[in-house]
Amino acid sequence: MEHVDTIVVGAGVAGLTAARLLHRAGRRVVILEARDRVGGRVWTDRSDGHMTDLGASWIHGITDNPVAAAAAAFGMRTVEFTVGGYQPDGRPIALHDPDGTRLSDAEAAAFAADVHAIDEALVPIIARSAPTASYREVAEEALAAQDWDDERAERAREYLEHRAEEQYGAWIEDLAAHGLDDDLIEGDEVVFPDGYDRLPEHLARDLDVRLGAIVTRVTWTGTGVVVQLGAAELSADTCIVTVPVGVLRSGSFTIEPPLPEPVAGALDRLTMNDFEKIVLRFEHRFWDDDVYVVRRQGPAARWWHSWYDLTRLDGTPTLLTFAAGSAAVATRGWDDERIVSSILEQLRGIYGDRVTSPIAVERSDWRGDPFARGSYAYMTLGSTTADHDALATPIEGVLHLAGEATWTDDPATVTGALCSGHRAAENVLGATIPIESLWAPPA
Ligand SMILES: Cc1cc2nc3c(=O)[nH]c(=O)nc-3n(C[C@H](O)[C@H](O)[C@H](O)COP(=O)(O)OP(=O)(O)OC[C@H]3O[C@@H](n4cnc5c(N)ncnc54)[C@H](O)[C@@H]3O)c2cc1C
Repeated sequence: MEHVDTIVVGAGVAGLTAARLLHRAGRRVVILEARDRVGGRVWTDRSDGHMTDLGASWIHGITDNPVAAAAAAFGMRTVEFTVGGYQPDGRPIALHDPDGTRLSDAEAAAFAADVHAIDEALVPIIARSAPTASYREVAEEALAAQDWDDERAERAREYLEHRAEEQYGAWIEDLAAHGLDDDLIEGDEVVFPDGYDRLPEHLARDLDVRLGAIVTRVTWTGTGVVVQLGAAELSADTCIVTVPVGVLRSGSFTIEPPLPEPVAGALDRLTMNDFEKIVLRFEHRFWDDDVYVVRRQGPAARWWHSWYDLTRLDGTPTLLTFAAGSAAVATRGWDDERIVSSILEQLRGIYGDRVTSPIAVERSDWRGDPFARGSYAYMTLGSTTADHDALATPIEGVLHLAGEATWTDDPATVTGALCSGHRAAENVLGATIPIESLWAPPA
């Protein structure tokens, strides 16, 4: 049986980061990746001649962010697009009322002020909330403290519902009260006009990545691991498992003996969300000029409420919207025609007959993807933010979990994935590694 120092399971950003740092420290590392490509949930599709990031798009805040530093070092072009965190203001946003009429600047500013007031009120309410409280419960407490009329409270309430779904792909009642604690964005947000996949491609250079390698079992003892791929086996002194929470919880991937505490309990309290992208390309723009995003309020916009204008990426008139949370669950199995017709109906409520049919549609299906089983993990009721880090507790110095769900400071992001890979490499080596060595040219 082939034996190496470390086996890394999964060639997403977490696995590639860990492997690259260990490889640079002189370790023999093999990465086993189920797909026929690296990158995992960073996936750029170019099949129709356009660049479409169907997984991650944004760096959610470039200040002191190692993903931003790595992207700069790898020469990746970026475009500023600071609305990825579902901000109510800060950049041009065309906000339309429930009837479809665009709010004046003063009305939009008043609405944004309401959102900021609620966010301020939420801080102490979340801090003292019961361990099993939902984001709905804390949101209602914050709204009740405002003394607003029903209409005003309803607009803020629906904003909080939409934000929970767009940020975490979870219905507000299923998300823990602390589920958005990590939402702080430092600095501008950016996207990649040439595709986010350039990042994993750079990280994978010179590494021993074995594609099409579907791991079914990891067996560990106090001295090492044996990893099973179909009929084949591979052994190592240490193993870093970076498969998503959805795979870990699925039964298609077994860890023997089962994960001990506190890892097992943390895994039980995190679960994968429902969050899919729908990208629509048009012949001509018919929406508001010079805005980053078009939003609509009101009950009709329950599912489709936000359209991000991606035209700035390559000049083709393009809107991105999300099927998030309940919309993703309800529309799973719909064909493109049905989805497009449902979305266009909403857009007609704003732009009337100016709305044209798209010339191309692209959709993700992360829930149906056997190597993801959802888009990213969220905190169910009863979980704590510490569960993320607890998931990465080293197991007898031999087995380490890494990946977006294992990073408390910034889970559900590429940044969290990269940082968790860095931590796993340090834990394997038992030494600190400067993060810059990830992108520094070879010595
Ligand atoms: C629609 C969508 C939008 C997003 N938007 C953003 C965004 O704008 N900004 C942001 O920062 N983050 C975003 N994210 C989250 C971000 O993509 C992830 O947090 C990050 O890419 C996760 O990296 P990872 O290495 O932890 O996991 P992954 O990228 O999932 O890597 C795990 C790897 O393990 C492999 N694997 C799974 N099972 C097996 C097996 N049995 N055997 C071998 N290999 C296996 C998978 O194929 C995969 O390559 C988004 C995600 C989605 C899905």
